[in-house]
Amino acid sequence: MAAGEPRTAAEDAPKTDTAGLGTVVPMHATTPAAGNPATDPSLREALAGIRALVLDADGVIVLKGRALPGAVEALAALEAKGIPFRIATNFSGAHRATLAARFQGDGLRVSWERIVTAASATAAHTAATFPGQPLFVITRPDGRREFDGQHLMPYEEADAPGARAAAVVIGDGAEDLSFANLDRAFRLIRGGAALLAMHRNPWWFTARGPTLDSGAFVVALEFATGADAVLCGKPGPIMFRTALAGLAADLGHRVPVRDVAMVGDDPAQDIAGARRLGMRSVLLLTGKTSAAEAATLLGVARSGTPAVRRSRAIPDAVAPSLAEVVAALD
Ligand SMILES: [Mg+2]
Repeated sequence: MAAGEPRTAAEDAPKTDTAGLGTVVPMHATTPAAGNPATDPSLREALAGIRALVLDADGVIVLKGRALPGAVEALAALEAKGIPFRIATNFSGAHRATLAARFQGDGLRVSWERIVTAASATAAHTAATFPGQPLFVITRPDGRREFDGQHLMPYEEADAPGARAAAVVIGDGAEDLSFANLDRAFRLIRGGAALLAMHRNPWWFTARGPTLDSGAFVVALEFATGADAVLCGKPGPIMFRTALAGLAADLGHRVPVRDVAMVGDDPAQDIAGARRLGMRSVLLLTGKTSAAEAATLLGVARSGTPAVRRSRAIPDAVAPSLAEVVAALD
């Protein structure tokens, strides 16, 4: 999160495991109709002029580590229509190639270049902001590969007298989020390093059940140092800008943000983040948001004051599944 940006309670909701690397708890999943979904005129209107999509992974194309019904066909239909997309997920413990292989194992045609993770968005940010400078990155080895070509300090190097880093990056480090490494990170930040968070999720579900996540360690370092961490994953702008840059490369030109729609199942992570950048957004009912919760959000959209509407994660449209969104695109 960029310093000074408001936090919402829902930002602290647990994230789920994108690629089936742990256990994902079922939420209010609905069963979308596969095949040729009927096109909702209001959805078509809300998406008029959309040129590209940013798709969340969990609750949009996968759930519980498996492809959602109709997701394979929906991605194929997007391809057929020539509409570029990016998958944007806060999962950051693995390289994009690892995630792509899991998606492809489920029949989802997603190349790794079309995935943006909190780790890859962070790596793009550090490459642009701190080129050639030493970085202290705590994450799993597979996620660490996203930083290939950048100057990553070995953990022990931070113990050298006068050690300096341009930035400390906290990711899904699991056992590497040890006291020794957090203490090293603490001293480097006191010595002038910027604090970067791949995400701020406090806990998530794994095979062990509810599991402490790296956001809790980000908050610990903020508390101890007084620093405000820069959030590189959703719902911060860096992740969305990374996805938009990739879409512009696909299209061969910059695309106005209003012509790009975020499709997600999480109002705070997906919808609010996209709205802050001016993108359009569609909330799906195939993941963590129930139809009743979506109806409440839309009720606020109809009856609230403009200030209330701006302050809430209100999507431009709600759709049963990705298939209906793709069917409604020109
Ligand atoms: Mg999701």
